[in-house]
Amino acid sequence: SPAKGYRGRFAPSPTGPLHAGSLVAALGSWLDAKKQRGQWLLRIEDLDTPRCIPGADQEIMRQLLACGLSWDEEPSWQSERKEGYQEALECLNERSLVYSCICSRQSITSTLEADGLITPRNQEIVYPGTCRPKAIQPQQAIQDPSIKVAYRLALPPNQSIKFEDLALGTQKQNLNTEVGDFVLRRRDGLFTYQLALVVDDALQGITHVVRGQDLLSNTARQIHLQQALEYSVPEYLHLPLVLDEHGEKLSKQTLAVAVHTEDASQSLTALRQAAIHLGLLDLPDSQHISIAEWLLAATHAWNRKTIFS
Ligand code: GLU
Repeated sequence: SPAKGYRGRFAPSPTGPLHAGSLVAALGSWLDAKKQRGQWLLRIEDLDTPRCIPGADQEIMRQLLACGLSWDEEPSWQSERKEGYQEALECLNERSLVYSCICSRQSITSTLEADGLITPRNQEIVYPGTCRPKAIQPQQAIQDPSIKVAYRLALPPNQSIKFEDLALGTQKQNLNTEVGDFVLRRRDGLFTYQLALVVDDALQGITHVVRGQDLLSNTARQIHLQQALEYSVPEYLHLPLVLDEHGEKLSKQTLAVAVHTEDASQSLTALRQAAIHLGLLDLPDSQHISIAEWLLAATHAWNRKTIFS
């Protein structure tokens, strides 16, 4: 694929400092960009304000810089971009692709159970379309955030999305049967991750989305939105997750410990662990190498084909 014009990004949610798992996503996306002489952008995904921790963005930036992972343009914050998301929502609305929904999580689960459909724990609920009208008209009050309804994207039938992951190969998801009409703006007025991310990736001209495998199941939804909004569809590369001793994904919610980056030797230790996780097994392990030299060696060694080996 052409190296020219590569634009990648790292898009952490500021719900805590970088941990071993998020450092893998940061390093993998940085290496993939640098290997192709591309740009690497930093976007702080601070839309879900109840989950954000004040100062976590600054701490993540400090940790990235301590690891030599510097970004190429001014970082952006999603909390400052709400007009852009509203505009995209209105654009979909004008094309009668949006409807309002008053269902609660509880009522959706009850509906599914009444129909004999079981929702396995930890699995996404497939929205049964309870609030979807037969013929969808543009919503009149979509500009008014004080009206407490959610807005969902109306899926056309047979939305089976297929894409090539650069490491995992062909991926497929049927949005109708595996996801259902999904939410673009929540009842509390917050734009969802799916909408905001797609709008920002397009605005920032992102050509390659490199991120953790936990986000793989969102990709089909994002591709569908990109197509509905007539954006170009970037390449996708999903990276192996770091699991804890119980086989669970490391996350800020499970209180994963922050990576230590107080001095260069700690940063190098953290980078080396992340690199091994990404299949880079033969990097210099001398204590006397600088971070910049180590990153250069890692960039040379970076290979999409051996990430999962
Ligand atoms: N903000 C998302 C997260 O931290 C990542 C978004 C992405 O890289 O697509 O889980």
